[in-house]
Amino acid sequence: MLMCQDVATLASDYIDDELGPVKRLAIGAHLLMCRHCRSLIGNLRTTREIISQRSYDHLDGDYARRLDAAIGEALRHPDNGRTGPPKDPEAR
Ligand SMILES: [Zn+2]
Repeated sequence: MLMCQDVATLASDYIDDELGPVKRLAIGAHLLMCRHCRSLIGNLRTTREIISQRSYDHLDGDYARRLDAAIGEALRHPDNGRTGPPKDPEAR
């Protein structure tokens, strides 16, 4: 059984479809039971989509820097579960 920390570690490869079938299934099973990790995967997917749809090359430096800071802040926000162990009591 995977723990939330395992899912967090593998989340990027999971989204990129770079895991073998066993790990993929294990994560899928975990996601069925864990709202926290579903949120994590969903947020990561959304972030990937946004990044893949946007090129920052043409942006002026200040806008790109502020956008980068905002994304970094969103990723650090404890409620979205992107980093560290779950802080949501319901996810324990
Ligand atoms: Zn979990």
